[in-house]
Amino acid sequence: MLPEIEIDYLTEDEDEKELCRCYWLLNTEEQELFDAKEKFRYTLAELSLNFRLKPRQIHNKVAKYSRAYIKKSKCDLCALPTHFLNRRNDFYSNRKVYEYQPWENPMPYLCETCKDALEKRQAKKAKAKNSLEFSGKVKSIFPTSQHLQFFKQLRREEHFVYPQIAISTFLDKNNLEELNEIENLENEIINFLVCDGRGNPKKAIDFVVTRQKNELTDSQKEIFYQKENLFEQIGLEYKIEFS
Ligand SMILES: [Zn+2]
Repeated sequence: MLPEIEIDYLTEDEDEKELCRCYWLLNTEEQELFDAKEKFRYTLAELSLNFRLKPRQIHNKVAKYSRAYIKKSKCDLCALPTHFLNRRNDFYSNRKVYEYQPWENPMPYLCETCKDALEKRQAKKAKAKNSLEFSGKVKSIFPTSQHLQFFKQLRREEHFVYPQIAISTFLDKNNLEELNEIENLENEIINFLVCDGRGNPKKAIDFVVTRQKNELTDSQKEIFYQKENLFEQIGLEYKIEFS
């Protein structure tokens, strides 16, 4: 497919508009012509004849009364065209860039202004991130080294294991109203979520570093009780493992 051309007219005169429109009109109708070298509907000679202008006059008028651009070349952020075409040669030299499939080139098209702004923002972010790393403030996502060991064990046995999943992940509008007394759980996490080979949740696991259930505090017991209740209602297996 030829990338579409859009035109901003810089004149109110209908004849001048028509000249610009014809100059930039692509030939998309016939396959033979589509494969041919000439991609435009009218040759310069035809335009010259129809509008009674010399080729140089055509180029001057088109440049003066229109700004053409490849439709796909609009900036993804501000929607302004990233490049304007002055002559047909610009189209030929630019169209390869826009004849891409999104999966071939996931990079966004940005105008110079937005590109600059984005780069500055990313540089700032990278700097903030680095300073955090170098300050030694980053800590492990695992509460204890036993959690890490247990994670490694699970990873050997299961398809997918995700550590530290927020309880709110399991709540949505549909089940939120049915579930009673979950207020205390909204900010809670579960230590591990085990999924099957297709990524469907199979089992939620909390890992407790203590020998026995009777060593838990009352508030811990209450939370676990509520979690058991919640997962029972959601229909997902929930287990508490002790170290
Ligand atoms: Zn932009």
